[in-house]
Amino acid sequence: MAHLMNTYARLPVAFTHGRGTCLYDEAGQEYLDALAGIAVNGLGHAHPRFVAALQDQVGKLIHTSNIYQVREQERLADRLCALSGMDEVFFGNSGSEANEGALKLVRMYGHKHGNPEAQTIVMERAWHGRTLATLAATGSEKARKGFDPLPSGFIRVPYNDIAAVKAAAQRDGRVQAVWLEVLQGEGGIQVADREYARALRALCDEHGWLLMIDEVQSGIGRTGKWFGYQWADIAPDVVTLAKGLGSGVPIGCVLARGRAAGVFGPGNHGTTFGGGPLACRAGLETLQIIEDEGLMQNAAARGEQIRAGFKAAFAGVAGVRAVRGQGLMIGIELDRPCGELVKQALAARLLINVTQDSVIRLVPPLVITPAQADEIVARLAPLVRAFVAAPASAAA
Ligand SMILES: *Cc1c(COP(=O)(O)O)cnc(C)c1O
Repeated sequence: MAHLMNTYARLPVAFTHGRGTCLYDEAGQEYLDALAGIAVNGLGHAHPRFVAALQDQVGKLIHTSNIYQVREQERLADRLCALSGMDEVFFGNSGSEANEGALKLVRMYGHKHGNPEAQTIVMERAWHGRTLATLAATGSEKARKGFDPLPSGFIRVPYNDIAAVKAAAQRDGRVQAVWLEVLQGEGGIQVADREYARALRALCDEHGWLLMIDEVQSGIGRTGKWFGYQWADIAPDVVTLAKGLGSGVPIGCVLARGRAAGVFGPGNHGTTFGGGPLACRAGLETLQIIEDEGLMQNAAARGEQIRAGFKAAFAGVAGVRAVRGQGLMIGIELDRPCGELVKQALAARLLINVTQDSVIRLVPPLVITPAQADEIVARLAPLVRAFVAAPASAAA
């Protein structure tokens, strides 16, 4: 590790292989994976059908170029548009890159519609990535610190607050888009109110703004629907996807619909790796397996099961403020910083993470079984109860 840049405080474990919801370390110990590579490995690890598809693809083609037609890319775009109600897709390699593409699209849309200084309204506690522009849009001051000058063009407002969006637009006539996660992941598993999401849609229609939804974490079946915005029954203008789309093979994309479609022409945007045969085959196979194995239904049911389990386990426990989420995006908010629990859970052979200092985040694979869902609760609940029973200052 001496030659790795010091960007992660890594846990002292390395994994050699996995199967379904389990991972195995170098000593052969088995771990229950409630993190799934941070909402990436929806199919779990080493899903036999996924592995076979990738092996087949590697033997045929890994990369050509966007200079040529790429059939796997066309097929994945067709499939994603059918599932999402969107019209067209640009493929990149990560969530940040997808979001950069979405921001470039909004700006070019502004230029084409007499608003060359297009401003995008973004949310407090939003997470959109770590490139310069997506970092500027991200709510975390900790993540932004030290990277000025950041790109401009963002107006930040509180989440779930429609009056704040209206007020911001009254102060600045250059607003062109509103951008949000319908379920904030890094922001502490916060769910947008259905009425709020619908009011944003109406407001965007009224003013000719673009409604942009970052589904990088919440998309691809994780919440129990293909996309989180489908819970609010709204049709966004711009959507971005990444994490779960390739089940671990890097891929991201930006989708556009209606007046947001057709904005880019040749030369406006591009990428060397994006939309390659291997990544798109991974995306196609992921979507097909989710459908064939009923994994969205499983995500909804196991999510309910896990939340109900924790609610029962924490009834009357004062230090637990909330158990919330949708499908397999689950947050447990405590009354104090709880990063320490990640190590305790690791020692109990359970992989979790903590976001916003005090929210335990569980985003297990969509293939998780009922028994494994119960096991997450059984391993984590006693640790949390003991943790909040200790004096808060000592625990922090
Ligand atoms: C993880 C995440 C990103 C950034 O994706 P990367 O692939 O890490 O660049 C953007 N938006 C949301 C909502 C995310 O959860």
